[in-house]
Amino acid sequence: MDNIKEKSEYCLNCKNKPCSIKGCPLNNDIPLFIKAIKEEDYKKAYDILSETTVLPSICGRICPHYKQCMGSCVRGIKGTPVNIGELEAFIGDISIKEGYEIEKENKYSKKVAIIGGGPAGLTAAAFLAREGNDVTIYEKYNYLGGLLIHGIPDFRLPKEVVKYSIDKILKLGIKVEYNKELGKNLDWSELENNYDNIILAYGANVSSKLKIEGEELKGVYGANELLEYNVHPDYTDKTVIVNGGGNVAMDAARTIKRLGAKKVIVVYRRAKEQMPAEEKEIQDAIDEGIEFLFQHNIVRIIGKSEVEKIEVIKTKLIKKEGETRLSPVDIENSNYEINADYVVTAIGAHPQEIINKLGLKTDRKGYIEVNEKWQTSNPKIFAIGDLAGNTATVAWAARSGRDVSEEINKIEY
Ligand code: SF4
Repeated sequence: MDNIKEKSEYCLNCKNKPCSIKGCPLNNDIPLFIKAIKEEDYKKAYDILSETTVLPSICGRICPHYKQCMGSCVRGIKGTPVNIGELEAFIGDISIKEGYEIEKENKYSKKVAIIGGGPAGLTAAAFLAREGNDVTIYEKYNYLGGLLIHGIPDFRLPKEVVKYSIDKILKLGIKVEYNKELGKNLDWSELENNYDNIILAYGANVSSKLKIEGEELKGVYGANELLEYNVHPDYTDKTVIVNGGGNVAMDAARTIKRLGAKKVIVVYRRAKEQMPAEEKEIQDAIDEGIEFLFQHNIVRIIGKSEVEKIEVIKTKLIKKEGETRLSPVDIENSNYEINADYVVTAIGAHPQEIINKLGLKTDRKGYIEVNEKWQTSNPKIFAIGDLAGNTATVAWAARSGRDVSEEINKIEY
């Protein structure tokens, strides 16, 4: 506790609060909740955080803080930023332990269905239910949490933290229909007839293809699917190539190493500095023995029926007009082969095909098209989080959930 007090005292309570306004996707009032910690009024700190988030224990642990709030902290200009993540998780955890509740009012009475109980859907549900709306979440699994449960390994986010956070949200009176999936046992027209509004929040978790020779070989997997279904091949004594540079690539690489792989090599086409993964995740992966091959592209996967090798090519980075990041360009004749047993692709993800059967407009990449109110081409239906192409972070997904609840509350029938 002294440690927490000391960490809170380090905050300068800046009036212009860049951590909150520039850094935090949810615009949590960071100096104000830290001030309440300084005063040792943890319930007040929780109430301040609850104005903007229902996931403090989760975001406090897994947000890329150095790219978000801590990256904007004034203390970080000349030294170390305030450890905002740890302070937020501390308040989230204490709220669970002490049973602090989210305040509820009966201002609205809309009937809303939410398809998908991941961070975006849960946040939308919480912000709608706390204002009195009648909310039902339809979830394809027999548990809620989505990628918080099956996309982020336990070593980064303990399952019980997610479970307790969800229990607190459900106490707002949200109904849940488990094992219900669109296109299988959840009827779209029934939903349209029975609810004032529908929010689609079932994510985009189908791994994108590399579109190279050999991708059909046995032993090529999508990282999203490996993490979601948690069904892995036997990695003992095997060399596994993970292709990608984001957090999904880091989570997959670290999970596979922990499951016994002899060697895990991350192949990334840009340099370390351009990796989208959080620096801490990259460092943890290095510390755990994951190897990295930067500025390399996989050209083809080689094998008779199973993966035996990969062919890679070196890349150089050039500045292309109109691009914000340096672009990798293959260096001619720099190809060589590496022995491998499995290849795991982590180069992005897209929504399931069912999306095309809902009669909603989608964009070029297959995401549902929404306007600035998260409204789809059918004004009764909204889409948030990854499904609407908002694939950044859990906090951004949660932000879309909170915003959509405000938009729905504004609609007059
Ligand atoms: Fe505190 Fe840093 Fe935010 Fe200033 S910028 S209020 S020091 S957390």
